[in-house]
Amino acid sequence: MRKNYFVKLLRYMKNVYHLERGLNKLTDGRVNPTYSTGQVIMPVLFGFLLRVRSFNELNLMIKNHEFSKLVSRGTKLPQVDAIRDTLKVIDIDGLKQINQHIVKKAVENKAFENGTIDGYTVVAIDGTKFFGSNKKSCPECLKNTKGEKTHCFHSGAVMSTVGMGPKLVIGFEMYNPGKDSASKDEGELNVGKRLISSVVKSHRNLIDVVVYDALACNSIWINHCEDLGINAVVRTKNNNNRSLRSAKSKVNKSEAVNVWKDEKGFEKVEVYESTFTMDNVEQPLRFVKFALKHKNKKRTQIMIVTTCMNMALKTLFKIIRARWDIENSIFNNLKTECGLEHCFVHGGKAVEAVLYLIFIASNIMQLFLVRRLRNHIATQREIVRLLLKGLYLLKYKAKLVFSSS
Ligand SMILES: [Zn+2]
Repeated sequence: MRKNYFVKLLRYMKNVYHLERGLNKLTDGRVNPTYSTGQVIMPVLFGFLLRVRSFNELNLMIKNHEFSKLVSRGTKLPQVDAIRDTLKVIDIDGLKQINQHIVKKAVENKAFENGTIDGYTVVAIDGTKFFGSNKKSCPECLKNTKGEKTHCFHSGAVMSTVGMGPKLVIGFEMYNPGKDSASKDEGELNVGKRLISSVVKSHRNLIDVVVYDALACNSIWINHCEDLGINAVVRTKNNNNRSLRSAKSKVNKSEAVNVWKDEKGFEKVEVYESTFTMDNVEQPLRFVKFALKHKNKKRTQIMIVTTCMNMALKTLFKIIRARWDIENSIFNNLKTECGLEHCFVHGGKAVEAVLYLIFIASNIMQLFLVRRLRNHIATQREIVRLLLKGLYLLKYKAKLVFSSS
């Protein structure tokens, strides 16, 4: 049993993160339910840990008694209809608290003791679409009509740690059609503001720097971060912010302040910088341009605006490049491996609930891989294979109860 990775994971979830307590506290709005909320949610969470791509796949696992050793003898697990009904009326706050508890525990256990990039704890925000479908929809869906086809989807902003250590989803916020502007950038910026405010409320002093893309290169975002006491790094493109234009032309006439040879896969990186003041922002800001010469001689550039006035240029370069972590480790991974784009269920609280469960599973997996297994299993595919093998072995071994309620 020593090498059974499923048992290892189960013990890790129970002993370090007390997940079963959070599940037992969950509630929902069903009347006289056969199964408690925790009983319904447990197999869904394990389904996402094992990377199921649809509820039908999960239903097959339940019907085949794959999870039977995780509950007391005689306890039946719910089928997919009960799962869908429960998700629609679940109390989202309970799921939010489970994720907050995981992040808090990780911080307490010093997962980010040395920061994620050169001593700073850096998070990135990114907007994305979830659960797109041409068939299923709900009243909260956003709609895109092309010809006769209407594509329904949900969208939101996600925040995760980037750089070294486990990539944890710290929080997410849904786009709200009633509240948020229909204009893409303005709407997403609004969601991003709500997201960072709520994260700072529940995780004081966790974040040092937040990195975001060009839609946040404006006084609204920078002042918002300043009010929360967090440093901002934002990508800037050729946008028409007047004060920024003059900073750019100043930099274009100046000499490079630094030239790095053979830096992180680039043949040469030339760095230019200047300080400037942005309209409607009180504090001075820093504008930095990294002119990149790639190994294949191609030239590109990355331009940023930041409130970090004294931060080393190399650290800023690492931060802006780590922004892609959220794209690679979180979104691409969840989209290809966990069906983040698949439409599991629509209606009521279900979309938000499924997202929470996908993110909770992803966080547990990250912590398990990085903290408990110390990265000695290289790929997620491999760990999922080992977990499924462990689950199979468990089926024919002694009982190991995860939740007895
Ligand atoms: Zn919907």
